[in-house]
Order: sequence, then C-alpha cells, then structure tokens
Amino acid sequence: MGKWTRRGLIALGVIAVIGGAAYYWLIMESGTSSQSYALDIAQVRRLADAMPGDKPREIHVEQVAAFAFPETAVVAGDSWNTTAIPVFSYQLVFPNSAAIVDTALDEKIGKAAGTVAFYPAAFARMSTALNKASLIVVTHEHGDHIGGLLVQPNLKQLLNAAKLNKEQVDNLQRYAPDYPRAAFQNYHPITYDKYLAVAPGVVLIRAAGHTPGSQIVYVKTQDGKEFLFLGDVAWHMRNIDTMRERARLITWWFLGEDRDAVLAELVALHALKKSEPTIHILPGHDGETVAALERDGLLKKEFQ
Ligand SMILES: [Zn+2]
Repeated sequence: MGKWTRRGLIALGVIAVIGGAAYYWLIMESGTSSQSYALDIAQVRRLADAMPGDKPREIHVEQVAAFAFPETAVVAGDSWNTTAIPVFSYQLVFPNSAAIVDTALDEKIGKAAGTVAFYPAAFARMSTALNKASLIVVTHEHGDHIGGLLVQPNLKQLLNAAKLNKEQVDNLQRYAPDYPRAAFQNYHPITYDKYLAVAPGVVLIRAAGHTPGSQIVYVKTQDGKEFLFLGDVAWHMRNIDTMRERARLITWWFLGEDRDAVLAELVALHALKKSEPTIHILPGHDGETVAALERDGLLKKEFQ
C-alpha cells in the first residue's frame, strides 16, 4: 500500500468517525437534563378556582397552517419519515366574552418559514375572533404562535387585550425582527414568577426553555375539564411519552433553545400525565391529539 493511499484511508476513517459522532450528537441523541422542573398542579388549580366569574364553557380550535418535518427533528432518534406539524389557534369561549390562546401565523410568515399548507378561511376567522377577544395570550414569542397577532393592522388596539409577558416582548427582536415596534410603545407586559391567573379557570405557568418567554396555559372549563396548552415545550405527545427532545440540530442550530430546561419540563410533564390522567395535554403541534379531542367533543372545530 502506497504512503498516500494509506494516509488517504486514515483520513477517510477519521472523517467517518467524526461524521458518525456528529450524526449521533446532532440527530440521534436526546440526552438527559441536569435540572428539575416543578409543576405544582394543586397550586395551579387553586389559582384557577380563586378567580371570580364563570370559567370557559367551550374551547374552539382552528388549524391555520402546517409544516412538515422529519420525525427525528421532532423526537431525536426517530425516523426520517415526514410528519405533520400543524399550526393551531385556540379560542376559550366564556358566557359573555372570549379569549385567544396562540394566534398562528399569516400566509407571508408561513411562506418565509416553509409551511406546506395555509388555510385562509381559518386565518380570517382567527383574525375576526382576535378583534372580539377580551384576552389574548400566546404560549411563546415564535412567529407561528404570536405572528397572527403581530400582523394585524390594528395591533396597537389589540394589545389592550393582550397579556404578553415581559420575556415574550423582550425577545420579539430576536424571533421577529420586522415586528411593528411602534405598536409596543407604552405597552406594559405582564411579569410573574411561576403562576399567574389571567381569567376564571385560566392560569399561566412559566416554562422558559424553548424560548425565554415560553409558558404553559392551564384551562379549566365550567364542567371541570382540564387542559394544558404546552406551546412548544413539546411538539408532539411522543416527546412527553418518551421524554425525548427534538434533535440537537434543531434545538441548538435552528432554535437556539435551552435544551436542558426543556428536557426537565418533559420529565415533569411525563410524571404529571401519569399522576393526573384526566388532564388533557396539548403539545404545540400534535394533530392527532387535537383530532382525538375533537372526536370526544372536548374541542370544537372553528371559532365562534
Ligand atoms: Zn410552534
């Protein structure tokens, strides 16, 4: 074997080892958290019940758009088969008012972000509902959750009903550099430590990690049914069932996420799902979970 052939083979071997390690680290491995995340559901329930007034009667859902990602992007180590990442907005219907949880995105943001489907009629119904809402909250400050609010022509007026947290507003620059700054002049975001009741039966739960402003929205309806809108702590229920995160290529390179924090939240949610099986957990982009809740009449199609 010639000297150069030998060197070439060694170099190829080194590249294969490095490549294999990189592939494992970026695509396959999920890892475990060095921290723990506490979710005191008894305290959340107390806060939800303490707020005077009628709780939501119904929860409605709109699917506004969809992405399609490889399964291993959603759950590290899964296959390269494509899986749906639908984009949702939710409407909590109270006897005399309504609230919106997440506002999806418009067609322009969607195209720029690579959506594979957009439903204009759903976006139009969401926009109409935003204008009638007495409360608007978002799980986090990413474009597919807050974008539908930011693009409204009367954003400044809508912000009167919006309870965005300080971290969500502070990080708009990072995630939505073109956002209309002027509308946020004199806007006072909410600040809270761990839990904050914002309406009868509705409690915000701090869950920083996916983004600094990430929060889970707990909802208890008038008939006592409980829901947790996770935002993108988990994209699919499988993240919670397996306690596995998105691929590191996604969380580290594309999202700049605090992976350690999210892994701890997945562990806590996994435990909660076991100990409180009647709570309906809604990951941020899980079409099967939403479809099952629609079949059971717990979510109603289309906003009112
Ligand atoms: Zn999302």
